[in-house]
Amino acid sequence: MHVVSPALDEGPLALPQTGHRIDRHDADRQREDWLAEVWRRPGTRVLRVTGDRVRRTADGARPALEPAHGELPVGTVYLGEVPAADLAADLAADLAGASDEVSADAPGGVHVVAVEEPEDDHADAAADMVSTFMLRRDAAELAAVDAGLLTQAVAILAWHRGAPFCPACGAATEVRSSGWMRACPQCGAQSFPRTDPAVITAVVDRDDRLLLGSAVRWDASRYSTFAGFVEAGESVEQAVAREVAEEAGVDVVEVRYLGSQSWPFPRSLMLGHLAVVDDAERAVADRDEIRHVRWFTREELAAETAAGRIGLPPRSSISRALIEHWHGGRIEDAEPHPGPQTPVRDRDRDSSRDHRRDEGGDRR
Ligand SMILES: [Zn+2]
Repeated sequence: MHVVSPALDEGPLALPQTGHRIDRHDADRQREDWLAEVWRRPGTRVLRVTGDRVRRTADGARPALEPAHGELPVGTVYLGEVPAADLAADLAADLAGASDEVSADAPGGVHVVAVEEPEDDHADAAADMVSTFMLRRDAAELAAVDAGLLTQAVAILAWHRGAPFCPACGAATEVRSSGWMRACPQCGAQSFPRTDPAVITAVVDRDDRLLLGSAVRWDASRYSTFAGFVEAGESVEQAVAREVAEEAGVDVVEVRYLGSQSWPFPRSLMLGHLAVVDDAERAVADRDEIRHVRWFTREELAAETAAGRIGLPPRSSISRALIEHWHGGRIEDAEPHPGPQTPVRDRDRDSSRDHRRDEGGDRR
């Protein structure tokens, strides 16, 4: 490949949800008694998730992990075992002082389960903004292990909400494998959590400029990379070329995979690429999904963003990671800590396959 951009030869993308060490205990979690056994262990911790939100600890620094007590709640899902060293210092110290059973069962590790906390329609949305971490908004703020646990919990709980009935015969299904499978008591069909592959692409030309698009559904100053679902019967590379041609009118001549990110809204796996085009002058927005496309040099993009003339996707998104990967470093936003203006919760219920809004559609 003729290298036109240093970004093609750099290491993997810096993504908030990766880089953790969570042992999912695949063999153990298939045991019928595993979840009940884990629930009884004094060291086990519970992540209570509403949509894509989780309550913060009292100091606001990390997602709250509560001890497990009482009856095992229906719908509990096993997430995995986390090294104690990766947990918040106070929790790790707490566990070190706990009973021998903890250290005997899980030397250095803590089992974490997820429980869905129903929406409280009377809750104060503005207060929620402050007292919770939202995966879509805050993933980049979280420690890798916390982002990993929350991503996993949001994904698997969304699957359960959408899969109460057997796809083969329509009977109500039963949860098995500590929350990782649903079985039909009528016809025996088994269903597993689904993930939909989507491609997301940073397009560069031979001068190493970056092409970004402003989607019709965002405000006109917001720019992002190009994305779409892999269609039936299509390879990932074909999907990259098709999406870029459809949305921006240019032909991809080279493409390189750079990394992936789970984006559980409700179940996408974003496959990040950098693509090279030869026909930069032909770039044109499709006007259907993309309002406007524009080529940027590194200096232009940094300057326009810092001045607030354009907005980039949130730091939690792979789109931002792709853009900064091309740029060769962090790009500062005009406002250092912008917060969303409106609650995100209505969109958590949305099962639309349109991830583009999710990728770029935060309302900062
Ligand atoms: Zn069935």
